[in-house]
Amino acid sequence: MKSYLLFIPPNTKNKSCLLWLFKTAISSLNLKNIIVDEIEISTHQTILINETTIHSRIAAVDLNIWFQPNSLTFDNNGIIMNNAVEDELMTAFYLINSISEYNSKYIDNIGRYKFDASYQKKHDIIGTNFVTILFERYFNKYFPQLLENRVFEKTQFFFSHDIDSLYGAFLQDGKAALQKGRFDIIAKLIFNAIILNPEWFNIDKILKIENEYELKSTFFWIVNKGRVNKSLTNADYDINSPSLRRTIDKVLSNNSFVGLHKSISNESYDQELKKLPVQTTINRNHYLRFNLPKHYQNIEESQLKIDCSLGFAEHYGFRNSLAIPFVPFNILEGKPYQFLEIPLNVMDGTFQKYMQLPPIETTRHILSFIEKNKTNSVISVLWHNHFFNSYRFNGYFKPYEDILMYIKEQSFSFVTPETLFNKYYLA
Ligand SMILES: [Zn+2]
Repeated sequence: MKSYLLFIPPNTKNKSCLLWLFKTAISSLNLKNIIVDEIEISTHQTILINETTIHSRIAAVDLNIWFQPNSLTFDNNGIIMNNAVEDELMTAFYLINSISEYNSKYIDNIGRYKFDASYQKKHDIIGTNFVTILFERYFNKYFPQLLENRVFEKTQFFFSHDIDSLYGAFLQDGKAALQKGRFDIIAKLIFNAIILNPEWFNIDKILKIENEYELKSTFFWIVNKGRVNKSLTNADYDINSPSLRRTIDKVLSNNSFVGLHKSISNESYDQELKKLPVQTTINRNHYLRFNLPKHYQNIEESQLKIDCSLGFAEHYGFRNSLAIPFVPFNILEGKPYQFLEIPLNVMDGTFQKYMQLPPIETTRHILSFIEKNKTNSVISVLWHNHFFNSYRFNGYFKPYEDILMYIKEQSFSFVTPETLFNKYYLA
């Protein structure tokens, strides 16, 4: 395998953008022995990257073009055009950074960008690693020799749990049981509530199951308690209570991970991080509620190093059409952000609440999504604790177990936030 240097001379226009884009391309295609730099290295075969060699408008445009989306022309396949030629690099930049979402007015009743309004829905590519396809097409056209350094490695899995509710079983399961006249279940819930062993206080159970699969997952905790308004609620537990402290200690002593589940509040990330009983640099927003690019700006201003929020609640797949963790590009400042985004791809509530699929169909959709992305991807899976043993969410533990069994049978592996940061954070 030859060693290549993609040489971007120091005086090149949009240099930092090009460095970022080619590093991200190498990462997504998993090209080995290729580096991108503004310094020449004599041992490597050099390929000059600049305005004349690149065959893309990305090297010439003023970066604020991204804030004027009407100045871009797309073809029917959703590719940005450059003088009647498809511009794969421009389009990759646009997709990786979710620019179609920037300051969008298409938001739902709790303030989230709607999947229905998305580029991914319009072009029917939510389950496709489309950015990597664009990079592949680009290299095939202009630098085909580089693709000989492509290596296909098995997809890896990042598992996590958002802990929204530990005590909700009594009310939510109780209501569901009451509607079906299941007084036996109500009696059991009352009994559990009285002996203080609520059905959803099941972190021990989750750790035990995951240890059987040698999986160390990440648990995201909410530091603020109570109802916010008619449609939004923060935690139903007190992060400082002794039983919570003990539970978080158990997660850590199991070598599993702790993250912040950013609540609905006016507090900053750093203010909420201070309220967590342990230190962390990982976050996911509660309800996946955020807007771009403000969200990235807020993460950048905090102590956080990893954000795991980038997913649609309404549909599984790749919200920014890229199947790996990545560093977003800060357009306002013309340089990469200083944190890693691990997109969210698969969440229990998507199937149960939004797509309204029964458990068996849920398994089928998830496994076929994985089958289509078996190499060079990282798939992030979120299963809430209340989907593990619950009357209301009856049966939705099964898809979770099915995924774990499939991963084991097919010899896929799990990854931790640390490993992902070391591999995908662009230094
Ligand atoms: Zn949540």
